[in-house]
Amino acid sequence: MNDQPSDIAIIGAGAAGLTAAIWAGRMGAKQVVLFDTKEKIGAKILMSGGTRCNVTNREVKSTDFHGGPSHFIKHVFEAFKPGDETIQFFKEIGVELTLEPTGKYFPVTNSAQTVLDALIQEAKQVGVALRTGVRIKEVKQAGDFFRLKDSNGVSEILARKVILTTGGLSHPTTGSDGAGYRISKNFGHTIVNTYPALTPLLTSDRDWKSLSGITLEANLSFFKDGKKECEYRDSFLFTHFGFSGPAALDVSRHFASAKEEEHPQITASFLPKHNDESIKRAFESMQKRNPNKLIKNILADEFPLPERFVEILLRKASIRLDEPIGSCSGENWKQLARSLLHYPLEVTGVFGYAKAEVTAGGVNLKEINVSTMESKLVHGLYFAGEAMDVDGRIGGFNFQWAWSTGAIAGRSAARSLA
Ligand SMILES: Cc1cc2nc3c(=O)[nH]c(=O)nc-3n(C[C@H](O)[C@H](O)[C@H](O)COP(=O)(O)OP(=O)(O)OC[C@H]3O[C@@H](n4cnc5c(N)ncnc54)[C@H](O)[C@@H]3O)c2cc1C
Repeated sequence: MNDQPSDIAIIGAGAAGLTAAIWAGRMGAKQVVLFDTKEKIGAKILMSGGTRCNVTNREVKSTDFHGGPSHFIKHVFEAFKPGDETIQFFKEIGVELTLEPTGKYFPVTNSAQTVLDALIQEAKQVGVALRTGVRIKEVKQAGDFFRLKDSNGVSEILARKVILTTGGLSHPTTGSDGAGYRISKNFGHTIVNTYPALTPLLTSDRDWKSLSGITLEANLSFFKDGKKECEYRDSFLFTHFGFSGPAALDVSRHFASAKEEEHPQITASFLPKHNDESIKRAFESMQKRNPNKLIKNILADEFPLPERFVEILLRKASIRLDEPIGSCSGENWKQLARSLLHYPLEVTGVFGYAKAEVTAGGVNLKEINVSTMESKLVHGLYFAGEAMDVDGRIGGFNFQWAWSTGAIAGRSAARSLA
């Protein structure tokens, strides 16, 4: 037992926890202790963006997020802004960011390690004590303080303020195992139903699975009871278990949250630049120009789609591989256009937390003060990051949520000590 109370104890040294610690230290909090279950911290930062870490995005809007109310999300990004403020923060800690044509920001080094090292270095610089290999099991109020106990019963500390940055349930081997939800519940907080988001889709269709490794640009539309709810256009990857790549990951949260009786359905357009009218015109013009050319070669050469994919798609549309475009019947055309632009994917489920980049759901935002990230139920308890009921789409949005909420929570907790 450490008798000397800490000013601020932060539980979880991921993106949100490190940012909160840095800002608490910068704001003058004297004893800031940052705990993490893992000896080696920052696993998610290191694996992010294909180990390049997609830090943020050129344009961050509340509509890029799901979960809690959009006014809450807007307020967060006004208090700690994406764009200049975030870029400046990283510059100050020695990380230059570069904007890619996709709108995503990465460190110029193309290495997630640069981001993690800089965050740890800055946290130490401002006096944060990093306690790794310590899993906080219990947090209780004790008079004006919080009493934190670890899983082994070895560490027990008192702190004036607690910031909970324990993440969600995704990639549990990185340390985020849902402990934060239990701690929050014990304080009376409600946890909005959690489920995996940004996770691959599963299929029973062996033909698609045989295309494992093939990537193409696609537009995925999500329907409930036949009504279109949303669509995502991005790269799309066939895998040995189903579908992945940003488009599939983005749509997964909608499929995961839908009930069976809502008849969730995902359709794919494999030619996202085309619509029903433009594809009709393109086919008609090619039919006139080159009636003897095989449909399979037209799809592979003119559009251009991968050959193996074309063979499977034609088989699914019941069109012969040796069919020339000139002899294709009107009915066959329609079937081919439907398969190219509105293919109903045979999705049987989502991969789950093991491959999910984030967790949807979490601590209810209604119970959190939007200006400070402080609990409305427990004075002195703060939240930041993925533990809260917000999940963003692919593109640096989830980290932006962690940086912004971490900064607000760290600053507010430090300010409240005065
Ligand atoms: C493969 C992958 C790639 C991704 N790529 C990107 C990307 O490029 N861009 C982007 O914006 N987002 C990306 N994300 C999402 C992003 O990593 C997360 O949204 C972000 O890391 C959440 O930060 P956090 O600090 O809230 O939670 P986490 O990073 O999950 O950190 C929580 C920390 O709390 C610790 N902890 C949990 N419970 C306890 C406890 N009881 N006691 C002590 N410590 C505890 C854990 O060990 C962990 O270190 C990716 C995610 C994955 C899995």
